[in-house]
Amino acid sequence: MKAGDKQALDPKKIEKEINEFLHEKYGDAIRLVTPVMVPEPGGGDKEDGGRPKSGRLRFDLKPEELIAYLDQYIIRQDEAKRIIATKICTHFNRITKQGLWDKAGRMVGGIKNNILMIGPTGVGKTYMIKLIAKKLGVPFVKGDATKFSETGYVGGDVEDLVRDLVRVADNDIELAQHGIVYIDEIDKIASSRGLIGPDVSRSGVQRALLTLMEETEVEMRVPHDPVSVMQEVEYFRKTGKRERRTINTKNILFIMSGAFHGMEEIISRRLSQQSIGFGARVSDRSQNPYEIMKHVKTEDLTEFGFEAEFVGRLPVRAVFESLTEEDLLAILKNPSNPIIISKKMDFAAYGIDIKFAQDALEIIATQAAAEKTGARGLINAVERALINFESRLPSMGATCFAVTSSAIKSPRRELERFLSDEGLHYADQVFEKTRRAEKSAVKTHIMENCKKLAEKHGIPFTDDYIDALAEFVTTRITDVENAFETIASYMDEIKNIERYFAGKYQIDVELSKDAVCYMVSQYVKDGFANFGKICEELTDKFIDGFRLLSEKAGVDRFTITQQALMFPETWLENLIRRAFEKEPATRGQGPDDESET
Ligand code: ADP
Repeated sequence: MKAGDKQALDPKKIEKEINEFLHEKYGDAIRLVTPVMVPEPGGGDKEDGGRPKSGRLRFDLKPEELIAYLDQYIIRQDEAKRIIATKICTHFNRITKQGLWDKAGRMVGGIKNNILMIGPTGVGKTYMIKLIAKKLGVPFVKGDATKFSETGYVGGDVEDLVRDLVRVADNDIELAQHGIVYIDEIDKIASSRGLIGPDVSRSGVQRALLTLMEETEVEMRVPHDPVSVMQEVEYFRKTGKRERRTINTKNILFIMSGAFHGMEEIISRRLSQQSIGFGARVSDRSQNPYEIMKHVKTEDLTEFGFEAEFVGRLPVRAVFESLTEEDLLAILKNPSNPIIISKKMDFAAYGIDIKFAQDALEIIATQAAAEKTGARGLINAVERALINFESRLPSMGATCFAVTSSAIKSPRRELERFLSDEGLHYADQVFEKTRRAEKSAVKTHIMENCKKLAEKHGIPFTDDYIDALAEFVTTRITDVENAFETIASYMDEIKNIERYFAGKYQIDVELSKDAVCYMVSQYVKDGFANFGKICEELTDKFIDGFRLLSEKAGVDRFTITQQALMFPETWLENLIRRAFEKEPATRGQGPDDESET
């Protein structure tokens, strides 16, 4: 039965197929009763999930913008960041412009910017691609090369990854066709070196991946797989469409990565053969294999065990550096790092606010460095350091907790202290000190690293705004980018108040810069009330005074300042007094306009 065949989607036949499968697996215990399948109204023409069709992938990011974005999160890896961000930007810019060239006829043998990443474990390879995919809004899936066989019998089929993209893209095939497929442990499918199966199987997987990387149509429906059949049924129910669904891999970006242990020897050998002096210098200079791997060439990869065609489809190569203990500490100190954010979320799930002292982060970094698994060691070290507190504090009624060096070194003693008579007082004191230190560290981080981000969002880079941003980051358990985005959105909402007064009351109101900043700080502290509520509050405070001034004194423009917001009654009284003292009526006067008084 062919997937394109309309018969293939005959509900009765599908029900029969599924029931045969269930019978084989569970006997008569389970049986599928097909619901009445009524296509959703208008489904025939509608797009998946009601989303707009994604042929509209809009893309106008420049490489440097993407690099700047990655800089906020990724410590070190400058060279890899530059190469990967640039090539991914180019890939997406190219496919969004492709329509222009397609009209002139398709190019034959075009080379896609698929990427090979080489580097040890836990240095940010996956993290970098995940960040990029999130920034670009394209679906991303990760697979492990050791799980595949060319036939799909061992663990999975390479094509499953492409089908997974559709799932991640919420069934939007167009969007999935612009996704990113990331395959780790690719070095394990090099023939004569890997850990799985015989050579023939490994090169079989290489060939299967090669086909995907070039261009092929992957069927959404996997024959004999009941799950995919059920999905097809669901698709029909939702959309009323019966046509064959396939995913074209032409525009999907493939990124492969691996540690490539031992390849440094191949590279060193080649380098010393090419030029004895140079080769010797490379190996003498560095004990670090990844320094040598920066010299990787296609011939090294083929000698390592890859077929030339396969390597040829991975023209972009980026080598990641190993991370030192200082790098690990820098990762922890970056307020946007997901390791600490996730741990804070774990405790927040029990209503406990935790803060980390700098000396505690130093101990965690030292412990993690000893594991030699890059930043992955940090995740384990943080878990180890906090497990005692995570299990005990929720039932002790704690609401805040400072992770200090003594908490990490002697967790039991720290817990006993918590339970003692002066326990809560002690905990509060330490917490407050740690909270202040953490906020101050976040402020320093923002001042040193986020000037461009502030420009991008139109947020003045002043101490008050930096303070509000740092307060947001430390109280909301979020990253710096989100703090900037949220505060920029607060500012937009606040500026809308001017339009509200003009539209509803025909009164020309302006909010001074310090008033906007004051409101932002208030809303960071208290939580942003909805726009309607803010307008109501301001109307209550000011509208009668404004009307009076407008009707009786002819004031036609009002500037609300921070003073006005803090002391509305006194401010209005002063404004009225000054306006009526004047003859003729003041025009265009703001309350802070002292020169006219
Ligand atoms: P791998 O290189 O093995 O793919 P990951 O990217 O999955 O490693 O790293 C694991 C975690 O460690 C990431 O989610 C991230 O939190 C952190 N991490 C790793 N490398 C870096 C880095 N260079 N900068 C910041 N965080 C990093």
